[in-house]
Amino acid sequence: MSATSHASRTFLEKLDLLAEVAVKVGLGGLQPGQELVMTASLHSAPLARRITEHAYRAGAALVTTLYSDDEATLARYRHAPDLSFDRAAGWLYEGMAAAYKGGAARLAITDANPALLATQDPARLSRVSRAHSKAYRPALELITRHAINWTIVPGATPGWAAAVFPHETTEVALNRLWDAIFATTRVDTPDPVAAWSAHDAALQRRAAMMNEKRYAWLQYKGPGTDLRLGLADDHLWMGGGTTAGNGVYCVANMPTEEIFTTPHRDRTEGTVTATKPLSYQETMIEGIQVCFEGGRIVEARATRGQEVLQKLIDTDEGARRLGEVALVPHSSPISASGLTFLNTLFDENAASHIALGQAYSSCVRGGDHMTAEQLAARGANESLIHVDWMIGSGELDIDGITASGAAEPLMRKGEWVAEAR
Ligand code: ZN
Ligand code: ZN
Repeated sequence: MSATSHASRTFLEKLDLLAEVAVKVGLGGLQPGQELVMTASLHSAPLARRITEHAYRAGAALVTTLYSDDEATLARYRHAPDLSFDRAAGWLYEGMAAAYKGGAARLAITDANPALLATQDPARLSRVSRAHSKAYRPALELITRHAINWTIVPGATPGWAAAVFPHETTEVALNRLWDAIFATTRVDTPDPVAAWSAHDAALQRRAAMMNEKRYAWLQYKGPGTDLRLGLADDHLWMGGGTTAGNGVYCVANMPTEEIFTTPHRDRTEGTVTATKPLSYQETMIEGIQVCFEGGRIVEARATRGQEVLQKLIDTDEGARRLGEVALVPHSSPISASGLTFLNTLFDENAASHIALGQAYSSCVRGGDHMTAEQLAARGANESLIHVDWMIGSGELDIDGITASGAAEPLMRKGEWVAEAR
């Protein structure tokens, strides 16, 4: 395909290409006869329909899409009895877990309006989130263990676009968000599938470099940040695609720019300051600064949304410990867009980050075949939550510290140093 033809693609052609890379790269294709379970909001039906078509063409036996509806979600907060807020559709999540156990692939279209529930009672939001996390856990475990091929892809919706571009008309905001999605998912390149395989190879290379180094700690220094982050024993850096338990090579996040691993739950000391707001439970938490002792948050502050932050880290004991650490260069295409997407899939790929809560067992050598006790013995954290927040910026320096205490520069001013590249 020529350079002019990919630049002149129509919106529908780009939407179709996004669906194609979601199935071919994100899910790594579908096994003949494999089922697919997809979730999306009603706004994303046009994208979901195209994904469905590509999935069937790739050999899917059955595609089941579960749609959510913002108006119905709001109706619950406005009119439901109080007991509603401790309820979750456990039967549905059990069904999803059963589908994955039976070999079904999973695709989520992320398209939420980050402001939808901004004015709702934080206590209720927290109860809903807790009930949901508990009910969803068996299905989520199969996903975090990568038992099956799964992926998350974005879809622009009017509510999300309005939150990202509050000063634009609905139509302009929606077009700008779609443009940003097509750019960051590499749908704007002449051959998106080829562009993804080159990008994936680069991420794999960097993860391999970190796995050879086997650092014991990462040392972060930046404005409001002086953190010594301990890595789990036998930790494994990952980035780009993964071979799922069913043998399919899939790319779980589109876009993705990070390499990531499992911190040790007890070995982080010092202070860290967030560099971007965190959108959690459809509310914004801003100006987060926390202090760790022995891996545990002993002090947490936020300039906005402090109450939600406090509830978040009080979810369970693991919620105040680290479950993920990820490195992203400041020059990543998402960061280069200059936008705050108010969506973790994007914002976590715009900057280096850490996550509170559940660790990914696949980030421990042999972890997918370990018991919970074996994982805990290596320092992997356990929690009902997994919440990423951004600590990277153009002012952050990161060193790798070897087991013997030697410091080696990894990033300066947010970019990989030449030796680490
Ligand atoms: Zn991450
Ligand atoms: Zn994460």
